[in-house]
Amino acid sequence: MVFLNLPKIAMAVAAGIFAVALQAAEPLGKAEVESALNAAYAKYKTLQEGANADYIPALAKVDPDIYGIALVTPDGKIYTTGDVKSEVSIQSISKVFTMALVMEESGPGSIYDNMGVDATGQVFNSIVAVEQYKGAEMNPLVNAGAITATSMVKGSSREEIWEKILQYYNDFAGRELSVNKEVFDSEAATNQRNQAIAQLMYAYGHIKDNPARATDIYTEQCSVNVNAKDLAVMAVTLANGGRNPLTGKQVMKNENVAEVLAVMATAGLYDDSGKWLYHTGLPAKSGVGGGIIAVSPGRFGIAVISPPLDPAGNSVRAQKAIADISNALGGNPYEVTPAR
Ligand code: GLU
Repeated sequence: MVFLNLPKIAMAVAAGIFAVALQAAEPLGKAEVESALNAAYAKYKTLQEGANADYIPALAKVDPDIYGIALVTPDGKIYTTGDVKSEVSIQSISKVFTMALVMEESGPGSIYDNMGVDATGQVFNSIVAVEQYKGAEMNPLVNAGAITATSMVKGSSREEIWEKILQYYNDFAGRELSVNKEVFDSEAATNQRNQAIAQLMYAYGHIKDNPARATDIYTEQCSVNVNAKDLAVMAVTLANGGRNPLTGKQVMKNENVAEVLAVMATAGLYDDSGKWLYHTGLPAKSGVGGGIIAVSPGRFGIAVISPPLDPAGNSVRAQKAIADISNALGGNPYEVTPAR
């Protein structure tokens, strides 16, 4: 293998792109991707583990058999299997994109300085975590940080802020998304805990004004409907340095992408973020609607939707399917073959 590559490497050195040539992974082939997707789909289709989230009443009613897988490559190839038409609410996966929007508008330091980028060691909607460091030492992927991030999106009215957020998500997905009204109403009627968290973040000065409005917009952003393909396109836009490979639009600044991925790696799968990273090496984000997105930088974005969740709040089938597929495709960015 080494011998076969020697002439190529010599040419690359001559061209002054030695490092790039050594690191560039082979593009994924159609057959290997399709077989990885089909194998994972078949393996977990009949798995009966986990349960829909029910603390938001409307989520308990979602069909637990929805199961769809989509993978998109930076050159715009789309692979899908299973149910990629059914939509679920995006839930916490939205937090990634609102974080990115705030970093676009106010600079990466705005998130870092206002709430931090560390795992809290507490559940995603913990009040203790807010109290412990007065709203600092957290991150934009837990509720306190996420509602604060939503409060930081600029705009002179609720409508203007909301339109901007939705348009930003649309740019990532490459199509016009819409809100699941039933989920929005259901969560708005039962989100007293998030309202309390927002008030605390306001009390500690992280939310500057109108915590109730921030919570309301946050609740609406969590209710945006997506299918597995939408999520995979959103993920590959991150895998592709912030450019949506289907529309060609540079959705976010290239230099902010690595920082967004770092926060996903730290806190994307609730209290099991460390375990997930240990097993897959992939920055990812789950939502209680049953979706998970994962990003193999430069290689692919993948998403699986399947509503039943494990006790940590992560989709059971989605975790297993993504881990299998990524392993089959060499997606773990930490796995490197020694140069010699
Ligand atoms: N809207 C949900 C909440 O705030 C999102 C939870 C999640 O997906 O983690 O509770």
